[in-house]
Amino acid sequence: MPIATINPATGELLKNFEPHNDTEIGAKLDLAQQAFEKYRMTSFPERSRWMEKAADILEQEKADFAKLMTLEMGKTYKSAIAEVEKCAWVCRYYAEHAAEFLADVYVETDATKSFVKYQPLGIVLAVMPWNFPFWQVFRFVAPALMAGNVGLLKHASNVPQCALAIEDIIQRAGFPEGVFQTLLIPGAKVADLISDERIKAATLTGSEPAGISLATACGKQIKKTVLELGGSDPFIVLESADLETAVAVATTARMLNNGQSCIAAKRFIIQEAIADKFEKLLLEKYHALKIGDPMQPETDIGPLATPDILQDLDQQVQTSVNSGGKVLTGGKPLGDRPGNFYPPTIITDLSPDSAIAKEEFFGPVALLFRVPNIDEAIKLANATPFGLGASAWTTNSQQQQRLVNEIEAGAVFINGMVKSDPRLPFGGIKRSGYGRELGIQGIHEFVNVKTVWVK
Ligand code: NAP
Repeated sequence: MPIATINPATGELLKNFEPHNDTEIGAKLDLAQQAFEKYRMTSFPERSRWMEKAADILEQEKADFAKLMTLEMGKTYKSAIAEVEKCAWVCRYYAEHAAEFLADVYVETDATKSFVKYQPLGIVLAVMPWNFPFWQVFRFVAPALMAGNVGLLKHASNVPQCALAIEDIIQRAGFPEGVFQTLLIPGAKVADLISDERIKAATLTGSEPAGISLATACGKQIKKTVLELGGSDPFIVLESADLETAVAVATTARMLNNGQSCIAAKRFIIQEAIADKFEKLLLEKYHALKIGDPMQPETDIGPLATPDILQDLDQQVQTSVNSGGKVLTGGKPLGDRPGNFYPPTIITDLSPDSAIAKEEFFGPVALLFRVPNIDEAIKLANATPFGLGASAWTTNSQQQQRLVNEIEAGAVFINGMVKSDPRLPFGGIKRSGYGRELGIQGIHEFVNVKTVWVK
């Protein structure tokens, strides 16, 4: 994939970028290593001051950053504004809490004193996706830099201007030169880069093949990794649920980011007794959604980020139909306009045992399944290789307890939509990855947990 800005709403190539060559990459690694030697000695108050300043810049210039995101990957401008604000929040959250999260922890043993000390590792490589071009990076940057690490970003090739803007924000915030740098390189370069001994750990948010490739390269070098991969989150609605609210949230949860979110609800598992009504209400909501120019405030759904994503999604829908699925609405790309537009789509009657029902649909396509009871709902929710998030709707507290205990996922939200929050850990199990971002757990991923024992 070329490193370029191509407007997904029009297909227009706006700017091409020359990838960094080996000499340039080497110079950035040198600079990052030199920066780390000094930066690791800085105090929490100093780091907090810079991180707060980064939050200020994000807030003051949110319109510019939001425009850039919409231009490069097609999310609606209003959702891009919200994304920048959330980035400021995560910066402030770790600026405020890092010292407490990384304070020495004293433990009584046979020593005169013994304690756990958290120390930074060094250069951490972050390989990031385009779908939340600012948020994915800031949820790594804020804890990693507050812990005293330095970051190298390899962002997705279709959002180079976002990647460079983030580097600029960190620099303008006052962090020492080299503490955070962007590398403009293709994904194929990553495995080689990891063999450089100056890189101490890596995190990747993206697809399973990319995760496997990065983890394999890191495994060969015994380097710590965090992987945030795909998901096919269930959205379970049981008989006692507040149906109107569940349908409204089901629509938002599937359409989030034009349907391109790892934690979007993708499989709707509805108890038979309320399934007809749910289906009817969902259809009404889908028909009311406005597709179009992502810059316009009234637009609910913009284009998919690239022609490849559009083509893959279209192929998955065709496979669903060939496997017995019935399309209730949508089902074909919008060929009447340029850009990568795909309409809100609902598919029913697909056998949950079909191979396609177990795939992740990265676009505005909802798969609807009917189940007789909670046992079958949980069984179907877990019948996926993924385990990222799950949303479940019931007012019955015993059922809530069962859903919390029995669903195999990194997060379960009862009567609410799955979302990330700086205060709570975020991550998956099974093929959705491992490790956690955000919360206290997120800042503990890239540190040396050093045991100190003194007699
Ligand atoms: P992708 O192709 O895996 O791209 C993600 C990043 O990995 C990009 O920077 C990409 O660079 C790079 N990359 C690609 N191949 C690589 C390789 N072999 N080695 C190292 N890096 C490589 O993912 P995508 O399809 O754009 O993103 C969608 C996927 O990400 C979905 O599965 C989604 O669920 C997942 N996702 C997960 C989370 C989460 O938090 N769990 C969040 C968002 C998205 P290039 O652009 O240069 O190829």
